[in-house]
Amino acid sequence: MPLRKMGPVGAVAMAMAVAQNQPLLPQNSVTHVSEHVYAIVGWPNVGIIVGDRATLVVDTGMGPRNGATVVKEAQKLAKGPKLYLTTTHFHPEHASGDAAFPPGTILIRPVVQQEELQARGAEFLAMFSGRSAQFKELLQDVKLRRPDIVFDREVKLDLGAVTARLLWLGAGHTRGDEETFVEPDGTLLPGDIVENKLVPSMPNADSSVKGWLGMLDQLEALRPRFIVPDHGALGDGALIAQERTFLAALQARAMELKRKGTSVEEAGKLLSAEFKARYPDWESMGPVPNVVRRVYAESQ
Ligand SMILES: [Zn+2]
Repeated sequence: MPLRKMGPVGAVAMAMAVAQNQPLLPQNSVTHVSEHVYAIVGWPNVGIIVGDRATLVVDTGMGPRNGATVVKEAQKLAKGPKLYLTTTHFHPEHASGDAAFPPGTILIRPVVQQEELQARGAEFLAMFSGRSAQFKELLQDVKLRRPDIVFDREVKLDLGAVTARLLWLGAGHTRGDEETFVEPDGTLLPGDIVENKLVPSMPNADSSVKGWLGMLDQLEALRPRFIVPDHGALGDGALIAQERTFLAALQARAMELKRKGTSVEEAGKLLSAEFKARYPDWESMGPVPNVVRRVYAESQ
């Protein structure tokens, strides 16, 4: 059923239905988001954009077993024979399932993301494999193929009656974050850059608070009606302002503490507690210290 205007009640219900870090995508379960866009809601949310001639899948799920689930759903929905695959960033739950896609699938991603995958992909596969026996099994023998197409800033895919604009707008969560905007639906698949009540994840020095806020401005200018975030419940265009309000407030407070001479470790602790009180319905304040670390590094 189309989501149409999903209110906060529906969004909360869906968030509760998705156990974060449960790494198997659901079978036979797609949500119709807008005329041409479908989502498999899971970890992560996977987008399927269906045109008259071609289908675009956004993210593979973790490892080939999840990739096979995605392929099955995409083939059920597809109207044309051509299949494109793109990935929102290089982390394993988004990009390590491409081996399950049929030969002839056209893999496309930003050049920055491909370079990052080549530089750090193996490190992240090893890190994720260490999280649990199930993660390890899903990521066994992952072989990543080379993309057929790489692009600098934007590529437009005409899928037949629907166009997907694949965008690279800078570094935020990773250096190679990609966003997909679907026209005429007005549906945005923003990767990790817009989520729903989840603290922005900035795992290392490749992440950028300034970059992230800059991307939110650019995404807001697209005026999306529906948003399929990589993680968290699906929602409407208001998710962008929600994300920005949180991140800008955290940035401002961290800069204040830095000016007062508070150590970065202490600021991380203080602001985790402060933002837990300010945003009680956000999932976990675990990523706050890493955001604070980036703010300190960026305001030298
Ligand atoms: Zn990620």
